[in-house]
Amino acid sequence: MTTPTGRFAPSPTGPLHAGSLVAALASWLDVRARGPQARWLVRIEDTDTERCLPGMGEHILSQLADCALLPDATPVWQSRRGALYARALEHLKALHLAYPCACSRKEIDELLAERGVLHQRGGERVYPGTCREGLHGRTPRAWRFATEQYEAARTSRRLCWTDRRLGCQYQDVAHEVGDFVLQRADGPWAYQLAVVVDDADQGVTDVVRGADLVDNTARQILLQRALGLPTLRYLHTPLVLGADGEKLSKQNGAAPIDTRTPAAALAALNAAARVLGLPLSQAARPAEALPGWIEAWRALYNPRP
Ligand code: GLU
Repeated sequence: MTTPTGRFAPSPTGPLHAGSLVAALASWLDVRARGPQARWLVRIEDTDTERCLPGMGEHILSQLADCALLPDATPVWQSRRGALYARALEHLKALHLAYPCACSRKEIDELLAERGVLHQRGGERVYPGTCREGLHGRTPRAWRFATEQYEAARTSRRLCWTDRRLGCQYQDVAHEVGDFVLQRADGPWAYQLAVVVDDADQGVTDVVRGADLVDNTARQILLQRALGLPTLRYLHTPLVLGADGEKLSKQNGAAPIDTRTPAAALAALNAAARVLGLPLSQAARPAEALPGWIEAWRALYNPRP
């Protein structure tokens, strides 16, 4: 039988904040609620070297330890796993499901503007497919997933999946997202490919993460299917909103949580628990508070063994 395995996968672009702690706590509880054999892993997603800050991965791990959120195996770092992603890209190329693309952002914008399509989906561009038929002597800048090509072989264009909290979700990836990037020519692996390869390699069965990532899930399921990997169970947690009603994030300056004393770490955990609909803990320190939430988590989110 597969070992239930969950993970927390922070990008080391800043310290843990109230929002990322919700995802950490939720993924930990979901694993612990599945019994003693289940595993909770931590993966540092440091592929985007421009946005990652030196020393931040270690800092996040120590903040997690302050909150008594201790992984069951040594954390892995995506920056050291390029060979795995390269193998997956080769596999997709062999299946004719990845192609090189020479278009710059500016070129994509101009072409979309010519077609009367302005920025969609929160500023993300739906790639118009210019390089699908070949580069015509231009220098490649990225590898893209041939969404259209893959989906054409499917019976339904709309990919449906079920979120354990949000219910039925669907997306027509080819039309709503387009041929997404797998690797940029200057080296970095795209989040979509790295996350799919790592979840499979680490034996992850359950993804519990913030609702800001819901929109990525259809792309990840598509890649899992294309690579012949199992589809995972997903639960996207409620977001922590800032005073302006926007999602709290490292980008809009979310304050790092203070975990320097057990009382401070417990206060941060209690705030995260409230977002998840869990009761306030009166425990003295994180290690004593965490087990107290497992039953409530079971009742709310029904994790199956
Ligand atoms: N590294 C991503 C982030 O910090 C999370 C990825 C995931 O959980 O799939 O937003």
